[in-house]
Amino acid sequence: TRSLCDWSSDVCSSDLLRTPLAVLRSEAEVALRSPREPEQYRQVLETMLEEVERLARLADQLLFLSRKDAGLIPRVREPLELQKLAEDVAELMHLVAEAKSVTLRVEHLASCPVRADEDQLRRVLFNLVDNAIKFTPRGGTISVRCEPVGDQFGVIITDTGIGIGSEHLPHIFERFYRVDPSRSSEAGGTGLGLAIGRAIAEAHGGSIRIESTAGVGTAATLLLPPLSPTAASDT
Ligand code: ATP
Ligand code: MG
Repeated sequence: TRSLCDWSSDVCSSDLLRTPLAVLRSEAEVALRSPREPEQYRQVLETMLEEVERLARLADQLLFLSRKDAGLIPRVREPLELQKLAEDVAELMHLVAEAKSVTLRVEHLASCPVRADEDQLRRVLFNLVDNAIKFTPRGGTISVRCEPVGDQFGVIITDTGIGIGSEHLPHIFERFYRVDPSRSSEAGGTGLGLAIGRAIAEAHGGSIRIESTAGVGTAATLLLPPLSPTAASDT
């Protein structure tokens, strides 16, 4: 894995920071050039707020990654039910899916006790479901399952979305990698979700697996070791 110094140049050379900052500057400059109607100021502020939110999200993700690189993340490790977490996240993301006319359903939740940092796992699952929603066109379906996979426990999120071409699959865990930047920047993505997700999964002794067929759909699986080593095969 690369260090913070290696990838900070990716940030600087990418448009991730420059584009929203340029938008903020030009919006303010244009608005201040001459007196405007209140409605025009409102529009300018709304645009600026959107860009500020994008930057805040990016800053949050970068801070997370830099702490991870420095090995400074305080890690809570508490017993928790993975299926409960999957259910929570699905419930919270339900409205987001609905707003896009995508069906999000929970299919199967077996008891899957793990030892983990709940906030961090939540973050991973949010990104996987967020990805599924973003890259699934209207009318599509996303399903969430939680069950033993081999000797581990898995949360499996499948979608009937646009899929990922095999030439892109090896790269999607790289920081800032997005298959189609024009498309996902509309949805506000920075290409950090899976990099962060993998870091979190690995710190828990687990992994993230993504299988996908372009034009058919994607299955993303978060795998974690069971709380007690024999639990997965017992259930
Ligand atoms: P962020 O998560 O930082 O908001 P993002 O969603 O674009 O941005 P990742 O979650 O790391 O970034 O995903 C990287 C890329 O992998 C996405 O931009 C997209 O091109 C592709 N991808 C991820 N999940 C899916 C999916 N379910 N269907 C199709 N493409 C996907
Ligand atoms: Mg994402």
